[in-house]
Parts: sequence; C-alpha cells; structure tokens
Amino acid sequence: MFENYEKYLAFLNQRLEGFFKKQEPYIKCQKGCAKCCKNAEFPYSKMEFKYLLSGFLTLDKEVQDKIENQIKEVVDKKQGFKGDKFLYDCPFLVDDLCSVYEYRGIVCRAFGLIESVKDGKSKIPFCAYQGLNYSNVLDTEKKMITNEKFKASGIKQEPVSFNVGYKFLTEEAFENRFNFKFEEKKALIDWFINE
Ligand code: SF4
Ligand code: SF4
Repeated sequence: MFENYEKYLAFLNQRLEGFFKKQEPYIKCQKGCAKCCKNAEFPYSKMEFKYLLSGFLTLDKEVQDKIENQIKEVVDKKQGFKGDKFLYDCPFLVDDLCSVYEYRGIVCRAFGLIESVKDGKSKIPFCAYQGLNYSNVLDTEKKMITNEKFKASGIKQEPVSFNVGYKFLTEEAFENRFNFKFEEKKALIDWFINE
C-alpha cells in the first residue's frame, strides 16, 4: 500500500540528509528538541496521514492511549476555537520525542533548513531566534542572516536556502515520478475532525 510513497520518502530523506549535512555548522537539531513539534499547524496530505497512522498502530497500547488522549484534547480545543489560525502541539509528541518518527510527515522531515520562498527570498526557521538553527549567523535586530555575522562566525560553508517548502515537496511531479497520490491536504488535527 505504501510501497511507492516509501520510495519517494527514501528519495526525500536522502536529499534532505545531504542538505542538512551541507549546513552542519548551523544545525542544532537533536533528540528531545521538540520546539518545531509545538505551536504549529502541521500540514498533512491524506497519504502522509495514513502513513502516520500505520506507524501509530505499531506502538504499545499505553503509548497509543496517551496519543489518543492528546488528540482528543487538541480536537476539543480546536472545536471551541474562534480565531483564524489554530496552533497546537502535535499529539504524536510523547515526552518531547516523536512517537512515530519513521512515519512522520514531510513538513516534519524538512523543517530546520532555510527555505527558499518566492522572488529570491528565504525563510529562516523560527528556532534561529531561540538560539538554535542558524542562530550563529543571525542578526536578531535586522531579523536576517548577514554577511557580517557569517564572516564573524569563521564558518567556511555559507548558509544557503533550499527548495524545501511543503508545497514544493508535495508537488504533482513527485506523485508522477513515484506513482502515488498525496490527495487532499489539511492541518494534521483536521484529519481527526469529521466535518
Ligand atoms: S528545527 Fe529547530 S526546533 Fe526543530 S529540532 Fe531542529 S533545532 Fe529544534
Ligand atoms: S509527527 Fe512527530 S515530528 Fe511531526 S510534528 Fe508530530 S511529533 Fe513532531
């Protein structure tokens, strides 16, 4: 069922690994750092969601129960939410570790690099402002990575951006190349809400 999607994931993982390797002096990601698993929307396609659930089914009953409770809590909060953008902690996060790491979504895999966005602009991961990725070249006043900071850092590799936006990584071209469909996309928690 997931054979072709897993081929895409293997391709993606390899590319991302190369990107992260290239940016090693700037990357502070480590086990237990779960800041990017909190307070966000987490876009998930149907394929990613089904894959995530297949990972959930491999977990011990006790962990499953914990996650189910967390899902319920977030669903309840979302249903009572009146604002525009509902942000939440991912319910698959258990003790600050991803309980379904091998099955996690695409946004979870790509987060942490500088993302190329439109018109030659780029987006620095928010954790740069918390002393994490790219914080060693970040000018916090100018809210950007500057040449001065880069020079002062003494690091050889330049900080560069990559085409790692969710929209790009879930483009039809990948579906065609690996012969699968992402299908509908929405916030992870919305897959648990029957509309
Ligand atoms: S991307 Fe940032 S917040 Fe996420 S694990 Fe890496 S350092 Fe932590
Ligand atoms: S699925 Fe895992 S990696 Fe992705 S946001 Fe949830 S806990 Fe974090």
